[in-house]
Amino acid sequence: MRPCSYRVAVLLTLVALIPVATLARGHAAVTKAAVSVRAVRLWAGPDGTRVVLDLSGRASHSLQLLKNPDRVVLDIDGAALGGGVHGAKAGSGAVKQVRMARRGGELRIVLDLDRPVRAKSFLAAPNDRYGYRLVVDLSDGVATAGGAEMPVKVVHARPDARDLIIAVDAGHGGEDPGAIGKGGTREKDVVLAIAKELAQRIDAEPGMKAVLTRSGDYFVTLRDRMRRARADQADLFVSIHADSIRDRRVDGSSVYILSPRGASDEASRWLAERENASDLIGGVSLDDKDDVLASVLLDLSQSASLSASEVAAQHVLRQLNQVGEIRKHQVQQARFVVLKSPDIPSMLVETAYISNPGEEQRLRAQAHQARLAAAIHHGVRDYFYANPPAGTRIAQLATAAVPRAVMATAAGGSGG
Ligand SMILES: [Zn+2]
Repeated sequence: MRPCSYRVAVLLTLVALIPVATLARGHAAVTKAAVSVRAVRLWAGPDGTRVVLDLSGRASHSLQLLKNPDRVVLDIDGAALGGGVHGAKAGSGAVKQVRMARRGGELRIVLDLDRPVRAKSFLAAPNDRYGYRLVVDLSDGVATAGGAEMPVKVVHARPDARDLIIAVDAGHGGEDPGAIGKGGTREKDVVLAIAKELAQRIDAEPGMKAVLTRSGDYFVTLRDRMRRARADQADLFVSIHADSIRDRRVDGSSVYILSPRGASDEASRWLAERENASDLIGGVSLDDKDDVLASVLLDLSQSASLSASEVAAQHVLRQLNQVGEIRKHQVQQARFVVLKSPDIPSMLVETAYISNPGEEQRLRAQAHQARLAAAIHHGVRDYFYANPPAGTRIAQLATAAVPRAVMATAAGGSGG
């Protein structure tokens, strides 16, 4: 059991650390290069090391893997170093040292290695939070459960800790209205209002940032919602819905997580498609692993995500209980596609029954939408303060909470 729980911890830490923001803007780079490297980040995982270069724009590059000594040579066309980026500190995973030099029209980056590795590189397209990133993955080939390096060395990143990213997913939208109440209320409209309110509250919370999977009345596929959360490197995915049932007397909210059956369906899908998937599970690429190892890694990541989902869902359910009727007092399990991300804890909140006339009316009321959003926000906050991912501002705030209170008391006592 020991190596397993260690591995889960590492995977989780990797999940937690991937979104560390960087973009050391600062100096207006006076350079003729088309593209500048703004930051270099390194992560060491249980069976690989990832190097991420934040670029100011698209660039082509070439990668060579050389021996004696083991090193990776990366040439980026038309690139220069941005202000504040120099070499990188030694000792992150397989990378002993990072050297950089401008030669001709290109920037050469050399990763000195302490062992032979396999290397892959790709250019990641910009998303809402990050620009172009050149990603180099170094894998050791065979994973060693016991001898893995601890993450994490963030080089030239912002010194402060990162914000948690919460993906807020308003169900349905566009041509898909979702459930429709007797009075004509459409699920897609009320859940968007609640999602927006929730996102605002999360954004106002120190150390947290919300991203909406849809921000207007348009259709987004379930897989695209998951992709969006993944692209934003979300720490948690919360889908907002309103339920409907033939019996109009039924009311109350419920919270769902993915069922084990749904998780195993998804595992088969990932394993079947891993050859052409560049996605990482918990920071680990599956496409170069043999079947057994890939399924073990996936299973560990899914189990960790599912248990985190359950704890987070319980916190949300507890808060919803204070707003109104709860349909089911336990967290429910179902095979909802949108909850299937193997490494993002995910939950689906059925805020109320839109088929119940009383609840339909409440769902339309802005004050009630705000109460539901506040309950979900408080549940999410409680969960993260109780289980803060390492390297986040919440982790600092959570540990700072006690000493600060003590200091306040001491200051009050000595004050005149
Ligand atoms: Zn729905």
